[in-house]
Amino acid sequence: MSALSRVTLLGVPLDPVTREEALIRLLSFLEEPFPHHVATPNSEMLVEASRNPAFHSLLGKTALNLPDSAGLLLAARVTHQHLPQRVTGIDTVQALCASLASDHPVFLLGARPGVAPIAAAALMAKNPQLRIVGTFSGSPRSEDAQAIIDHINAAAPHLLLIAFGAPAQDLWIADHLNDLPSVRVAMGVGGTFDFLAGERKRAPALLQKLGLEWLWRLVLEPRRWKRIWNAVVVFPLLVVRHRQNRSS
Ligand code: UDP
Repeated sequence: MSALSRVTLLGVPLDPVTREEALIRLLSFLEEPFPHHVATPNSEMLVEASRNPAFHSLLGKTALNLPDSAGLLLAARVTHQHLPQRVTGIDTVQALCASLASDHPVFLLGARPGVAPIAAAALMAKNPQLRIVGTFSGSPRSEDAQAIIDHINAAAPHLLLIAFGAPAQDLWIADHLNDLPSVRVAMGVGGTFDFLAGERKRAPALLQKLGLEWLWRLVLEPRRWKRIWNAVVVFPLLVVRHRQNRSS
């Protein structure tokens, strides 16, 4: 699929891929001996990008932007574009780990101390062929970057999954991917390790299908209200305004 066929929302390109097509693209990136930055934008990340030029700019340069939220699908429809389905970070990580051979080592960076090793154990229990060569909690602070880079380079992974939350994880990848010569795919995965480790529960399938995962998160994690407000209220308003500005 060419870059030309990408969907654009608030000036951010998104790849109109199914989960299967995303998996094929990721597996082909892993065969190429150069780095690919993969992002999993959702509605609140696009709101953040509209206010954060560095984040907006990097989302224009990634190899793949997987549409993570139901709001993006709806916004694409309203703007006469088409995104076939949600391709979430956690679903993509699970599918990728099920398909990866042991010659593509994996490193898990981020989440609270102790979470990534549990997530790694859960992934390896399900996928005995999977080779996870390291985990590190770390932090997105610039003073911690060198220690993280040293850890990753010592493990020499092909696939680097980073859970620092957005936009920190994608800014970190943009700043440091070139310092990680073994890495072929670096992907920001948000709360994926928390879900894999059982620290957080995903919304029931029905709520996910109805595009109401945000409601589940609001009930379980009310401190996230501002992010949910951005996703559910600010994002649609920005999409409508952006569309009016373009047609006037
Ligand atoms: N995180 C981290 N360091 C930070 C900030 C966040 O490791 O400085 C981790 C956090 O523990 C969580 C992940 O980043 O595992 C993403 O968190 P968030 O709640 O933003 O997930 P999302 O909503 O993107 O799924």
